[in-house]
Amino acid sequence: MEATATRPIPLLDLQSQHRPIRDEVLAEIVKVIDSQRFGLGPETQGLEQEIAAYCGAQHAIGCANGSDALVLALLALDLEPGDEVLTVPFTFFATAGAVSRSGARPVFADVDPDTFNIGVGHAKRVLDAHPRVKAMIPVHLYGQCADMDPLMAMARERGIAVIEDFAQAIGAEYKGRRAGGIGDMGTLSFYPTKNLGAYGDAGMLTTNDEGLRKKLAALREHGGAETYVHKWVGFNSRLDAIQAAVLRVKMRYLDGWTAARQRNAELYSRLLRAPVIVPKSAPYTTRHIFNQYVIRVPRRDALREHLKQIGIGTAVYYPLALHLQECFANLGYKSGDFPVSEQLSHEVLALPIYAELTTEQVEQVAAAINAFFG
Ligand SMILES: *Cc1c(COP(=O)(O)O)cnc(C)c1O
Repeated sequence: MEATATRPIPLLDLQSQHRPIRDEVLAEIVKVIDSQRFGLGPETQGLEQEIAAYCGAQHAIGCANGSDALVLALLALDLEPGDEVLTVPFTFFATAGAVSRSGARPVFADVDPDTFNIGVGHAKRVLDAHPRVKAMIPVHLYGQCADMDPLMAMARERGIAVIEDFAQAIGAEYKGRRAGGIGDMGTLSFYPTKNLGAYGDAGMLTTNDEGLRKKLAALREHGGAETYVHKWVGFNSRLDAIQAAVLRVKMRYLDGWTAARQRNAELYSRLLRAPVIVPKSAPYTTRHIFNQYVIRVPRRDALREHLKQIGIGTAVYYPLALHLQECFANLGYKSGDFPVSEQLSHEVLALPIYAELTTEQVEQVAAAINAFFG
């Protein structure tokens, strides 16, 4: 008999995370409202210190969202028209969108089919062919770090900056080092679907460089190093104090939620059978935080529709590689340029992985997928 979900299993259930911490969060929100200090005050500074410590970085700078964090990081590098920034075509749009918004031109390198992250060999070939690349944005996709050591070595050799997009990888570890503390800068999102999610939008940057810290802190407030004295042209991208207060409560639970995600991931990987390809942890990965648990399957869209019919939520991150997006047609790429990214965009499927899932629910999802393939 085919497994059917007795109760719908959504891809993500934020209610189940919110319920047990509701009183604690509301108390902190009320404190901020009663203080009437909404800007970059004590809550935001407190969160910045806690995130810096958590990520093994010297400094953290709050901003309005993860997309802004990327733009701010790129602005801090003083890129000139014609400068290029290397990233991947298999990521959330913001990674490459930020490059265009900063005035630079995105150039892509294909990803590794096992880790979904930038392929070191691909990156090297693109850097050799593109002398105007001034920065590189490896994305730590789904909660696993990119292979940072060789990437950092290539960047240092060429004098280019490295921005880690770790929106999906807070607390992920590469050879024991935390995401966001390895490159020149790291960018983080607290969008509600991330492992540490705000009650709205929020973002942050990390860096070990005091000069960059100062500049980023200024850029998020229109580039003013002092009030009304503008050294650079920035924009308004503050981290709201109410969001900071929510995030500080949630930070206390983050490691517990991560452990639960890891348990769910292990169970899926034990239960799912061929032809399902389960996600792999690279040898250098010492902590995968599973923002997403992403399988590769044939007949992906049919499976997704079937799961939807029986009440199981899934998602496709990402169905169209960025080099094939209409807005990037001017970059001159064509279908076939990044075969791994293109193949993944047809095969990947994200399953429910949130911390509050029960063992039975994970078993139900796995059974339904195994049954689909007979
Ligand atoms: C979510 C995300 C962003 C953007 O963050 P926002 O806070 O939504 O602006 C950037 N990069 C990646 C890889 C993301 O997953």
